[in-house]
Parts: sequence; C-alpha cells; structure tokens
Amino acid sequence: MGVHIQVLRHLAAARLSLVAPLLLAFATGASFALGQAAAPPAGQPPNPQPVLPLGDVPVPAGASGVGVVPGGVARWAGEGITRCGDARETWQPLDGACYYPVDLGQEEGVLEVYRETAGRRETAKLRILPPPYAEESLRVDPRKVRLSKKDRVRADRERKVVVPLFSLRTNPVFSFPLGSPLRNAPTPRNFGKRRLFNGEPRSAHGGADYRAPTGTPVLATEEGLVVLAAHHFFAGKNVFVDHGGGLISIYMHLSRLDVIEGQRVKRGDRLGLSGATGRVTGPHLHFGLKWRGARVDPALLLGDPAALPSP
Ligand SMILES: [Zn+2]
Repeated sequence: MGVHIQVLRHLAAARLSLVAPLLLAFATGASFALGQAAAPPAGQPPNPQPVLPLGDVPVPAGASGVGVVPGGVARWAGEGITRCGDARETWQPLDGACYYPVDLGQEEGVLEVYRETAGRRETAKLRILPPPYAEESLRVDPRKVRLSKKDRVRADRERKVVVPLFSLRTNPVFSFPLGSPLRNAPTPRNFGKRRLFNGEPRSAHGGADYRAPTGTPVLATEEGLVVLAAHHFFAGKNVFVDHGGGLISIYMHLSRLDVIEGQRVKRGDRLGLSGATGRVTGPHLHFGLKWRGARVDPALLLGDPAALPSP
C-alpha cells in the first residue's frame, strides 16, 4: 500500500462521520457480487437488456413530481444556480445544472430536492417509480455463493476497504457524457437485475455488463484518481477511479491491472485488460458508477444529459 493511498484512506475515514447515514445505506445496499447472464448459443444474436430512456417513463395523471426509476438520475438546469441539495447533502452545480442520482435500492415514494439561485431556494419532488428491472438466474462456482469461513472473512475485509471510498467528496473533474469504458463498446446489459446465484437470491446488479473477450483494454471513463486497484474475492481484479463530486467509476473482473492506487489517469487511459476474475459466469467487463453513494445506471451518464428527467 503506497503513501498516497494511505493518506486517501485516512481522509476517507475522517469524512465518514459527516455522512454516517449515507454510509449505512451503502453498507446494507452495496453489492460487489457480480455476474453475467449466460451467453446465447452460437449463431444467435446477443439479447441486450433494453436501456429504458427515463424521459419515457409514463407519469400517471395527477401525480406530483417527476418520475425517476431507482438507479436513475434527475437533472434540473437553470440560470445562475449556486447550490444543489437534498435531505442529506449539498453540492455544487455541474455545467449549470443540479444532478440528483437515485440509488438502485431506493424504495417507491417521494424525495424532495432543491436548488439555490441568488439566495432563493426552489424545491422539487422526485417521485420514485417501481423498479422496472427483470430477474435473472445465474450459475457460478458454488464456492462464490456459499462462502467458506476463510472466504467470508476475506470478503468482509475487502468490503471494509471499499465502502469508505464512496464517501470521498473531492473536487469534481468530470463532464457529461462520460467516455465509454471500452473501444467499440457493445450495448451494456443487466443493470438493476434482481439475481439468483445458483438458485439463491442475492443483491441486485449495481452496474452494467459489457461483453468483452479476455484481454480487451479497459479505459477510464473520465479523468480522476485511482483509489483502488486490487484483487478481491467477488470483484476479481478491480479498479475504482474517483472523479470528484462523489462520482466513483468501478471496473471489475479484469485479467490484468495496469494502474496502481494513487495514480492520476486521464479520460481514455488504459486501466487494465478485461477478464473473468472474481464471481463471474464468463469473461466480461462489469462497469459501475456510484454517485454520492447511489448506484446509478452507467448508460444514463454515457448518454445526452439533456435526456434525463427534469423537475
Ligand atoms: Zn456485472
């Protein structure tokens, strides 16, 4: 472990007290157990999960607030916004807009958010819709579902390393849309799916899976600081990049790591090569985004931000 990352972890730990309720949500809702649906038989086209354009979610007549699915992001743009916020935190606007990421595990209901313009506060309601995601059944190595005591201790230890990283709130250095984590990327799949591993229910899928043969270069979605580059039980060889503003990009199941913790990367830099390490059914890239603690659908931030639902 390098000096840089020790300092980082120390910083992360120091900020924990500020975001304790948020952290609890991560600890209970976070998932680093990831898999991929079985490949279709040879000769058949892949069957990508359709990406649901959030703007097309029907809003029942008479309901108040803009509809957002769990794992979605709302965007509220306007002139002269100075601050954005919700019940838990406040933050700077980005390119003249406030963004409100909604965690994949957020229950149906209403979230109140606000923005400030020249000292005046406006509030808006986000109406959280039922999760539209399907269920999938996966077959993986049984030892990755029913863990031995030794593996459980290891997985717990690794979770304790990862969770504080979601509390980092460094200066934002990103802009939308983010860059693709693969060159010539296929359609991302499986975000939000509820999953059965070997018939046993496990947490919903918090990222997007891309088909990629082992050895495909994996690219940083945006500039940032590598805050994790390690080999973990569920995630395999994995990299976390902090882009500031609470946005962390996550790359899992790599066959090789080409970066180290504490290293700065630019958008498009190679982080490693894709593979099949950790809990997987085969080679693929798992790409996740956590934004202020919310697991959001990466496809939304790789697309046009103006297409996001707005109050
Ligand atoms: Zn995955």
